[in-house]
Amino acid sequence: MNTVLAELTDDGRGALSFRGSRYLLVRPETLVGLQKAVEAALGGRADACLVAGGRAGGGSALRALEGAAEQVVARLLKMGGEIGWGEFALERLAPGALVVTVKNSPIAHAYGPAVGPVCHLTRGVLERLAELALAGPAVVTEIACAATGAPLCRFEARRA
Ligand SMILES: [Zn+2]
Repeated sequence: MNTVLAELTDDGRGALSFRGSRYLLVRPETLVGLQKAVEAALGGRADACLVAGGRAGGGSALRALEGAAEQVVARLLKMGGEIGWGEFALERLAPGALVVTVKNSPIAHAYGPAVGPVCHLTRGVLERLAELALAGPAVVTEIACAATGAPLCRFEARRA
């Protein structure tokens, strides 16, 4: 069951909310259009901007979740799928290690073929999750991306 869709409320004045947090339905090509424009303007510095956006949204989502790290990780990954960010799966959670895979990334799909990973927004969200799961500053790397022809996107977190 998709909890987010089941509990999504429409106030009739242009605001959709889930458990008190506002949500925005947006087409992947809107985000990817922004991403490509930022990449054209900033080149290699664009990634960090997109990660910052992902971190902001991920931080808000995590503040709304409670429980032990394992529970929060499971809940956020489930929620990722429920809000259409792809099919998230936990590959590994151990002291100092968090590995997450995403099948059917809407970002990779909308971006089209690329020479390197493109799911920087997702990477930012997972970076905030990793900071919680690994109990400290963390850096996430997308080590495989569907946009480059990989079967799925894979994100590896380590303590910064
Ligand atoms: Zn990807």
